[in-house]
Amino acid sequence: MLAKPICAVALGCSALCVALPAAAQSTPELTLTRIDCGTPVHNDVSARFSDTFAYKDLKVWFTYSCYLVKHGSDYLLWDTGHAMNAGAPAPKVSIVDQLAQLHVTAEQVKYVGISHYHADHTGQLPSFPDATVLIGKGDWDGITAAKPHAGANVAPFTHWITGGGKIEPLAGDKDVFGDGSVTVINTPGHTPGHHSLLVRLKTMGNVLITGDLAHFHENYDGNGVPVFNTSRAETLASLDRFKKAAANLKATVIIQHDARDVDKLPAFPAAAQ
Ligand SMILES: [Zn+2]
Repeated sequence: MLAKPICAVALGCSALCVALPAAAQSTPELTLTRIDCGTPVHNDVSARFSDTFAYKDLKVWFTYSCYLVKHGSDYLLWDTGHAMNAGAPAPKVSIVDQLAQLHVTAEQVKYVGISHYHADHTGQLPSFPDATVLIGKGDWDGITAAKPHAGANVAPFTHWITGGGKIEPLAGDKDVFGDGSVTVINTPGHTPGHHSLLVRLKTMGNVLITGDLAHFHENYDGNGVPVFNTSRAETLASLDRFKKAAANLKATVIIQHDARDVDKLPAFPAAAQ
């Protein structure tokens, strides 16, 4: 990307000019599409979503969102939502059927990034047995422990636990495609290995997707910590990191569960570019 101004300003259109922008020209197409991964629920968040008793009667519409990132001919699916048999919050249409509307098959999904091990983020993982699963090491350790962590949805990972699929436990961040365009960011606290997602789109600009770093605007704005998070200190440190990154990158922040953030991206099947 830096090559362009150097070319135009300092070098004119020399032979070098042709060579340098080649990398920029080959930057693959990058798009971001919201996939619906559950039926919205009107949640009373007053009891469990603040360990400082911040909310008396607050009810928030929770949505369940997954995201498809297209990077050239490669795809990353971020989170896999509720399972189709999850009861009231189960999705109406599976991820695989929504991908079909985009003319994308499960086999084309190279990576599945899992923000964390809870059931509403992992339910449809078994539909993607060929994908390399990116998940925080802290969560992977919690899934594979002799006594799995409370809240870890172990069953969908069976194919990967038994060696049938590729898994990449992340101790820190992961530059997914090696060009800085899509980064899985280490934001522990909700769970030990929780991660968020940064997508650096050309037209829309930078987008930061929270995972469950915060579940709704009130908690994001007020550094709220749910009582069921695994670490209050890590949650606050992760919120601090995420907010500073969002400010520095002038990023659009999408709180994955907050229904008020759904229209920050184009409605399915349209993609942000
Ligand atoms: Zn969660």
